[in-house]
Amino acid sequence: MAKSPEVKLAVFGRAGVGKSALVVRFLTRRFIWEYDPTLESTYRHQANIDDEVVTMEILDTAGQEDIQLKEGHMRWGDGFVIVYDITDRGSFEEVGPLRSLLEEVKRPKNVPLVLVGNKSDLDHVRQVGTEEGERLAAEMACAFYECSACADEGGAVAEAFHELCREVRRR
Ligand code: GDP
Ligand code: MG
Repeated sequence: MAKSPEVKLAVFGRAGVGKSALVVRFLTRRFIWEYDPTLESTYRHQANIDDEVVTMEILDTAGQEDIQLKEGHMRWGDGFVIVYDITDRGSFEEVGPLRSLLEEVKRPKNVPLVLVGNKSDLDHVRQVGTEEGERLAAEMACAFYECSACADEGGAVAEAFHELCREVRRR
């Protein structure tokens, strides 16, 4: 039997955008309100995607400013989730620079990527419009999901991770 493919996924974004909450939601279908922001972890997870069992290694980065560490994580990964918080415009503005660094580190490869606007349950304090996220994703030629780690009704969180796996497998 063929060995099931393995993909290495890393989650990036400003501290507090909900990277850990999203990863935990994806892995456990639960929401954990407080998660040590300095903690960096990797998780292994298997999922059936398009009738194929895929093993994921997921790195939940802790958003340190250490550039060498960040570049190391980028070299390690096959695919990337870039997360911003729809209630924090600053986190949205950090997406572009992260993407540029990725392109630089992974050159000349075309980097598999998905963009996630998290905390869609906080629509009343939104600072970044859905269309802005869509436009940025179009510029970066990647898939875009608005979702909520705490109220993930439509399963958008899992869809984002699965789509990223597909994107990695297509390369
Ligand atoms: P990280 O630093 O990017 O890993 O962010 P965390 O996962 O630690 O989340 C930071 C804070 O945002 C925590 O207080 C979480 O409870 C909260 N949070 C994360 N995701 C959501 C979400 O989808 N909705 C809401 N309302 N809060 C969230
Ligand atoms: Mg975290």
